[in-house]
Amino acid sequence: MPDVRVRFAPSPTGFLHIGGARTALFNLLYARHTGGTFVLRIEDTDETRHVEEAVQVILDGLRWLGLDWDEGPEKGGAHGPYFQSQRKDIYRRYVRRLIESGTAYEFEDKEKGGTVVKFRMTREPITVPDLICGNVTRPLNDTEMADPDFVIVRRDGVPVFHLVNVVDDIEMKITHVIRGEDHLSNTPKHIALYRAFGVEPPKFAHIPLILNSDGSKMSKSDKGAALHEYMNAGYVPEAVRNFLSLLGWSPKGDVELLNLAETVERFDLAQVQRHNARFDHDKLHWMQGQYMLKMAPDRFNETARSFLAKTGLTAGQPDDYVLRVLGLVKEKVKLFTELPEWTTYFFRDDFTADREVIVKTFGSAPQSWELLEKLHSRYAGLSEWTHPALDTALRALAQESGVKAAALIHPCRVAVSGKAGGPSLFHLLEVLGRERVLSRLASARERLKLND
Ligand code: GLU
Repeated sequence: MPDVRVRFAPSPTGFLHIGGARTALFNLLYARHTGGTFVLRIEDTDETRHVEEAVQVILDGLRWLGLDWDEGPEKGGAHGPYFQSQRKDIYRRYVRRLIESGTAYEFEDKEKGGTVVKFRMTREPITVPDLICGNVTRPLNDTEMADPDFVIVRRDGVPVFHLVNVVDDIEMKITHVIRGEDHLSNTPKHIALYRAFGVEPPKFAHIPLILNSDGSKMSKSDKGAALHEYMNAGYVPEAVRNFLSLLGWSPKGDVELLNLAETVERFDLAQVQRHNARFDHDKLHWMQGQYMLKMAPDRFNETARSFLAKTGLTAGQPDDYVLRVLGLVKEKVKLFTELPEWTTYFFRDDFTADREVIVKTFGSAPQSWELLEKLHSRYAGLSEWTHPALDTALRALAQESGVKAAALIHPCRVAVSGKAGGPSLFHLLEVLGRERVLSRLASARERLKLND
């Protein structure tokens, strides 16, 4: 068996579909599992599109997911991907070979004018031996029955996808073509081309499509279809990668949380499922939460700080205060984009509280206002501003006033944060600091007053 060589061959459409990202991942996993090579090839022969930015979108997405390719022309000390637009001579050579052997011919397009090159396709259906789908034989459709030959070089001289895809897989010595099932219908054409070149086709593994959670086919415009949505929304790349690995593949045993090394170890094409995979947003969200909890504090802080900086919330705030705030909310935040929701009141005094929260906290317990005033004077007299001292003082006051601690804890939280939930109250008060807490307690009645 030759060493495994696989490739991800995206067309630069300006968009990295979640299905494309999953194809790239499966290729990488298979390469790593077998000790093979993972090649990245940009299929950019269609020069009518402006591709530079579109290529960047793909590279950014792959790097974000940690899917490093192994090979490509040297570029700035690293290896870039292969670009089909830079390999035109190779395609010309292969087309010449086909014309010389009589398996391709020039054809005058009378309707549109100009000459194309067509491939002489067999008149029999070709069976695709597929590692995932089994042997697939698709009967020829009506057009193919009438004329199965297909264009391999367009009127403008540009070679088409079928040709360049096969030529590059030959040139790059690809042993396994792992790609989306939407390409299965192209594969008979590809196999015919391999035969015409006298080359043994690679093994094919067409992986199942990704469906929306309602079972419909996930298209470009569907929510969550672009990898960039997850990058921008503050997802942890490892969580997205873990989630994608389970779309159409399932390891033995009921494990779900797997790091890259564990996935590589267990991954094999034999366990890729034949049925389509549903995209379960709730599961991704859960997985994201798991990765956030496990994230090392330094990495959390660094990412969180850059997210917060973009919102302007932390402008002018001392760094150690920001870090203490982040320490408090780390276990609560599931997505970095939720940070403003969890932290705004630490940085601004003009936060708001939901009417519902105010009514629930003070509506049925009007004595809460007086309790808060008493708490204010207790706290004003504290010599030490630490969470144990704040805790003890509040409980002592509750006992003296004949109420449960909760009757003070809830109103106090709403008064200082506007929220019904959050990090442990006494830690929160400690971090907020004496000045903010006292002024918020003093102004609570005024600021939380309902106007009707
Ligand atoms: N450029 C094709 C695509 O983006 C690649 C197909 C393949 O992997 O062979 O769908």
